[in-house]
Amino acid sequence: MKKSITDIDVFGKRCLVRVDFNVPLDEQKNVTDNTRLLGTLPTVNYLIEKGARIILASHLGRPKGVYKEEFSLAPVAVTFSKLLGKPVKMAEDVVGESVKQMADSLENGEVMLLENTRFVKGEEANDDEFSKQLAELCDVYVNDAFGTAHRAHASTAGIAKYVPVAVSGFLISREVEIMGKALSSPERPFVVILGGAKVSDKIGVIKNLLDKADYILIGGGMAYTFFKALGYEIGTSICEFEKVELAKELIAKAREKSVNFMLPVDTVVADRFSNDAHFTAMDSSGLPTDMMGMDIGPLTSSVYCAIIKKAKTVIWNGPMGVFEMSNFSHGTYNIAKALADNTECVSIVGGGDSAAAVTQMGFKNKITHVSTGGGASLEFLEGLVLPGIDCLNNK
Ligand code: AMP
Repeated sequence: MKKSITDIDVFGKRCLVRVDFNVPLDEQKNVTDNTRLLGTLPTVNYLIEKGARIILASHLGRPKGVYKEEFSLAPVAVTFSKLLGKPVKMAEDVVGESVKQMADSLENGEVMLLENTRFVKGEEANDDEFSKQLAELCDVYVNDAFGTAHRAHASTAGIAKYVPVAVSGFLISREVEIMGKALSSPERPFVVILGGAKVSDKIGVIKNLLDKADYILIGGGMAYTFFKALGYEIGTSICEFEKVELAKELIAKAREKSVNFMLPVDTVVADRFSNDAHFTAMDSSGLPTDMMGMDIGPLTSSVYCAIIKKAKTVIWNGPMGVFEMSNFSHGTYNIAKALADNTECVSIVGGGDSAAAVTQMGFKNKITHVSTGGGASLEFLEGLVLPGIDCLNNK
């Protein structure tokens, strides 16, 4: 168990909080989606209440180690200040004398924001010198950026070596607690639903969960690589041909275990990759040579939904079809609705596209936990050690 901010005394301490302020900005520099900023409020408000002096740090986009005005966090400080209802001082740099002075002169409960950590080459290189410079700004390091916790960068991991106290904020604690429990002692039946474009992104997750889950339900573009492995005709559907052998192995492994590894029994096929395409649902075992799979079919939806209805723990990562097109969003919608309707179950939706889907479809509030990290939540489910969490102090 890692220490969190509630395990330490922060009064009067300079707390450097690694947050995820990597938000979309429009041409006028307005934040167009403030979900990540809102997610940070509980940790920042708690630290303010406890009289800490708060130094926020984040990356924004990919400036690749040099200052570029378009990637400045200054507009984000303005929006965050409005949400917080308090001034947020904007530093003119990431580290250095003027930044140090600003940090040292913070009063208890005051908040400042460093410039984009990726303006410094040492950030992504996890450079010791830069980690030390960041560490000199503070007495306590708080990591609350789950979305970058799988990266070993200076502000997400390296800094912790040089700060005596390194703990998690509320966002990371919740991610670790809920996903950790689902992996170590899930209430059963434990159902894992995997979709999205590629098998290659989910191989580690499948391997790790074959021993743990009661059901693994497959959908999305990745299903066709498995169909190919079974010798089915897949038409023009997306397929990772170089992963077909691996898909065969995974199917064989699943058969050895007691897990129910399920593929869509029917598929919605279309004559082209467009919402205006002609489409129809059909048996998955032989798709027409000139058609492509775009979604799971209605029979698959009802089979999967019946399993979800009885589940006590569900982890879902990846849409069931091309949900961005309304004609091929039904499979993803049905799964999201079934999950939202099962109020007896711990439901966890991985970040990225499936998180976007449940939010867009209006089910977010009925899901126990929507992860704030796409890549990070996949690595967590693979059972990998995340450097941004590993670096924190143990309880
Ligand atoms: P991922 O990032 O791997 O979770 O994949 C998400 C993407 O997979 C979404 O943009 C979906 O449109 C896409 N996707 C899901 N099913 C299919 C499919 N049958 N054919 C092509 N793309 C798909």
